[in-house]
Amino acid sequence: MSYAPRPLSTRLTAAVALLAIAAACATNPVTGQREVSLMSEAQEVSIGQQVDVDIRNEMGVYDDPELQRYVSDLGVRLAKVSHRPQLPWHFTVVDNAAINAFAAPGGYIYITRGILAYMQDEAELVGVLGHEIGHVTARHAAQQYTRATGGTLGLIALGIFVPAARPFGDLASTGLGLLFLKYGRDDELQSDRLGVEYGAAAGWDPLGVPRFLRTLSRVSEMSERGVPNWLSTHPEPASRVEVARPLAEAQAAGRELARNREAYERRIDGVVFGDNPKDGIVRGNAFLHPVLRFAIEFPEGWEVQNTPQQVMARAPGQQRYMLLQIVQKPNGRDIEQIAVNHMTTGGFQRVSGERTRINGLDAYLGVYRGAIEGLGQVGMRTGHIVMPDRTVYVVAGFAPQAQYDAVNPVATASIQSFRQLTRQQAEEIRPNRLDFYTVRAGDTWQSIAQGASRGLVTAPTLAIMNGAELDAQPRTGTRIRIVVVG
Ligand SMILES: [Zn+2]
Repeated sequence: MSYAPRPLSTRLTAAVALLAIAAACATNPVTGQREVSLMSEAQEVSIGQQVDVDIRNEMGVYDDPELQRYVSDLGVRLAKVSHRPQLPWHFTVVDNAAINAFAAPGGYIYITRGILAYMQDEAELVGVLGHEIGHVTARHAAQQYTRATGGTLGLIALGIFVPAARPFGDLASTGLGLLFLKYGRDDELQSDRLGVEYGAAAGWDPLGVPRFLRTLSRVSEMSERGVPNWLSTHPEPASRVEVARPLAEAQAAGRELARNREAYERRIDGVVFGDNPKDGIVRGNAFLHPVLRFAIEFPEGWEVQNTPQQVMARAPGQQRYMLLQIVQKPNGRDIEQIAVNHMTTGGFQRVSGERTRINGLDAYLGVYRGAIEGLGQVGMRTGHIVMPDRTVYVVAGFAPQAQYDAVNPVATASIQSFRQLTRQQAEEIRPNRLDFYTVRAGDTWQSIAQGASRGLVTAPTLAIMNGAELDAQPRTGTRIRIVVVG
């Protein structure tokens, strides 16, 4: 979570609404066919510029100018051989741990630093950039925005990890939600084809496209996390492999094409893996925020996810959730009043409550009842806690009414674990980073995950990151990727 995220929706919605005025017929640059378009090229670029401001504010740009330049150079070389070389192309690595890449109209392409750990070489990176370029050249990105003006704005959700829970705001209302609309299968296949085509035309091995799709399908088999990633916005990677591979093989036949594994690995050495501590960091079931200087333990075994707006946790396979947020514009004379006002504004009724201190901090513990979309009537245990700088945090555990008695004790224990970090404790929180390791005799993915990588990633993740099968053990003397605390 980051401090006081700016509301995005108003500005972007207004911009999108303008487009509806100018419906016209235009030629699709890829197919050459005439199609109804609600957006001129100038409008596309102007939307892209505004989205870009939002992305930079909301996700942040990854702080590594050399890596940015590298990705941008590759992207520009691909864009030059694309169907729309004249667009003002921009390529940015955003500071986000998800495995994702996305495109905004007008030539704005983004990849997360999280996706970099899973690509084996430059050819795979080029494949993803080429695919996203394809969404722009074939005007899929523009069409998505056009469709979003047709009244579907409210349906856009960023992967439902927890149900939209007032008073806790919801991600769907941010402008970024527009970027996480699913493309249709035809659009995906067309972009895969364009990724193959652009990559090969610019001199890279187009088999990077099917290879990386295969990696994505392995990631999706392994994970059920509700994060918005390339898998939720780009459906069915496994079946797309079958379509992309023969196309890539045909393009690659008889040609010398680059993969540039070493050059790629030099660039990703040391890249932050997982949460960046400046936005708070998840360690097992704990969440630590060295900048805001607090820590909390969520219930044992729960999945914890950090987003700019909030930290969310849930019991796997159950309708039991926890949320942590900063209370914006706290309203009241004391913490009791602030807490009750906050909850009442969100439509929750107080059942009981008491003022207390949690690890030396002024707090109000409450029990409330109310409705949450997707869950119906819920019982909610909350702690509103004031930090010495007067920032008010709310920690809430909730479940459908019938399960409330089960969630109450674990939520209460979690709320009571909220504590301030000392300056020294905060300074000791380092990010996880990608590093390299030379395999020794007798090493297995399991032993490396536990040993050199200190349990920071699981053995299956480590194998996927290295483009290897879990049961094909790494060869002695080869250099592999690992994750270390750095
Ligand atoms: Zn796509």
